[in-house]
Amino acid sequence: MQINLISDTVTKPTKGMLKAMLNAEVGDDVFKTDPTVNKLQEKIAKMFGMEDALFFPSGTMANQTGIKIHTQPGDKMFCDKYAHVYNYEGGGAAANSGVTSHLIDGSRGMFTTNQLSEAVLGGRSDIHVPYARLVTLENTTNKGGGACWDFEEILKIKKVCTANNLALHLDGARLFNALVAKNETPKQYGEVFDTISICLSKGLGAPIGSVLLGSKKHIEKALRVRKLFGGAMRQVGYLAAAGIYALDNHVERLAIDHTRAKIIGVALQNCELVKNVEPIETNIIIFNVIDSINEQDFIQRLNRAGISLISMGQGKLRMVTHLDFTEEMLERVVSTLENI
Ligand SMILES: *Cc1c(COP(=O)(O)O)cnc(C)c1O
Repeated sequence: MQINLISDTVTKPTKGMLKAMLNAEVGDDVFKTDPTVNKLQEKIAKMFGMEDALFFPSGTMANQTGIKIHTQPGDKMFCDKYAHVYNYEGGGAAANSGVTSHLIDGSRGMFTTNQLSEAVLGGRSDIHVPYARLVTLENTTNKGGGACWDFEEILKIKKVCTANNLALHLDGARLFNALVAKNETPKQYGEVFDTISICLSKGLGAPIGSVLLGSKKHIEKALRVRKLFGGAMRQVGYLAAAGIYALDNHVERLAIDHTRAKIIGVALQNCELVKNVEPIETNIIIFNVIDSINEQDFIQRLNRAGISLISMGQGKLRMVTHLDFTEEMLERVVSTLENI
């Protein structure tokens, strides 16, 4: 059987999750009468100590909605140069909200408070300069290799935002990986961020679905924007049920994915064809192969051994551990890397 390490989005619903989906009570969510969607939204809002939440078909739509409710066309958003909202959402901030992205040259997808302060100081009252409205952080970072922010740094960034009247959005597609890895709580994040997007369909193993968290006022606006983006859905409680099941059953086990990723990291470090492995904090492994071997050749060698992975460009390769990646598969990956 092929071992798929391309992403943590490749998982299929477990038997328990499918059962929860089949048994879901549903209604028309556009009329807010789907009890299971309402339950998911209330549950996750309560977890984070935030006023409200809204279910979305994708993380991209949740982020794009977050950006739109905090900005006006012509405004500026600060984010890291690796940010998903800038690199992987089809130029959505510009197309959907008319927003300019001010990229900060951080490290592994994270920047410092000083870097943000310097960027913000660039001429606030100067008529040539776009209004700065929003800061977006990503935790864990995707292109940054699953790195986790230091919460103390986030608190300092929040101070800069408050002092400069900037909204703070979190792309928390994999926030639960960070919470588990750093032993942090959802409420810590709920207290700091104006809005948070979270993917249920990554490490948590749901087939689809994300949520956007925020104040009542923000989520009221988000409801209109979601309609505008074509993301208002009907009897979608079947999918929300998968999300509820994931929150109840698949959060703590993320630690297993993290341990397995670290074991793969060691095997890669010992592999002669691998030049370097980036630090592994969660479930994402990013590494480079040695200069004398082409990265596509390396991918093909592993493919032939029954292992799929992905190139991230610039010589970087990526593997991601997940719910459907078992202990037996881990042993096969490690022995393949020992013998390649
Ligand atoms: C996957 C991901 C998203 C959202 O992606 P969708 O495929 O639209 O659900 C957003 N941000 C990050 C960092 C991601 O990894």
